[in-house]
Amino acid sequence: MVIVMAPSASAADIDTVVAHVAAHGGEAFVSRGVTRTIIGVVGSEDVLETIDASRLSGVAETMRITAPYKLVSAENHSQRTTVRVGGVPIGPETFTLIAGPCAVETAEQTFEAARMAKRAGATLLRGGAYKPRTSPYAFQGRGEDGLKLLAEVRDAVGLPIVTEVLDNRDVDIVAEYADMLQIGTRNMQNFALLQAVGRTGKPVMLKRGLMATYEEWLMAAEYIAQRGNLDIVLCERGIRSYEPAIRNMLDVSAVPMVKSLSHLPVIIDPSHAAGRRDLVVPLARAGIAAGADGVMVDVHPHPESALVDGAQALSGSLLAELAVAVTTLPPLLGRTSAAHLAG
Ligand code: PEP
Ligand code: MN
Repeated sequence: MVIVMAPSASAADIDTVVAHVAAHGGEAFVSRGVTRTIIGVVGSEDVLETIDASRLSGVAETMRITAPYKLVSAENHSQRTTVRVGGVPIGPETFTLIAGPCAVETAEQTFEAARMAKRAGATLLRGGAYKPRTSPYAFQGRGEDGLKLLAEVRDAVGLPIVTEVLDNRDVDIVAEYADMLQIGTRNMQNFALLQAVGRTGKPVMLKRGLMATYEEWLMAAEYIAQRGNLDIVLCERGIRSYEPAIRNMLDVSAVPMVKSLSHLPVIIDPSHAAGRRDLVVPLARAGIAAGADGVMVDVHPHPESALVDGAQALSGSLLAELAVAVTTLPPLLGRTSAAHLAG
């Protein structure tokens, strides 16, 4: 069951609802959103039958949700969620480009990548300071130094930052610098990490696991939501397939399908799906056409010498092609480019 509080509900109203749920043997999880508070209620069928919060002060609606993920389900949820990252919207009305270097390497490289991203119409900068590498011998990222550099670049270039957190022990430090925390594919089911980022209250980008079903992905989002944070953006980044020519297979169906299952925004990452730059723009176009709320791509000023994922990084004419796609296609689908809103 989900209890939606009216925008005017007071803290005392919320406490009363939580106490009412507890008195009937249920458990309440309070998620405070920007515009309203939602209380997820779990308990056995018998317990849920006895809870009647509809007449309590400040309650706007109560709803039974049949999906196993309660707070992120689209069921009985008339409005799609817009997540704001440092003022930049990701949601149904806009289209948001997120771009930047896969890894923060040097100050010069990060500044240049951020400027390239901005020129292409990006309103958020992505960059990794902690990198989840398949090989323990590969570059692991610059850690806290990388976070400081990202924050410097944000302030100079004016793009809020999205960066990955790999480990529970780093959540506080990453949250101190980042505007949005990224949970990578390999950590999609690291439940303790999901709960920890949920508690920070910072927007979270949750990438789909390499072999995760839609339900597993949404249950992972539920872990974040259940800790009081509904500012979650889902990112489809390709799933494992039998085809060796591409790194992963972008699941375009995930965009309309997951948008029908959940009210959360869905974006795509064609760079990590393809693993090669010549496919990034065509896949971005496909994602936009399927209704994605945004696209996240790797850019690098010198892809040939990138320390991580250079083969998929855009620069020059391919980045210019991407810029055309992200400014011309979304308006055909009734969306405003977030870049236009940002001026
Ligand atoms: C990344 O975005 O840099 C990354 C490591 O992606 P994924 O978790 O999708 O592999
Ligand atoms: Mn990468």
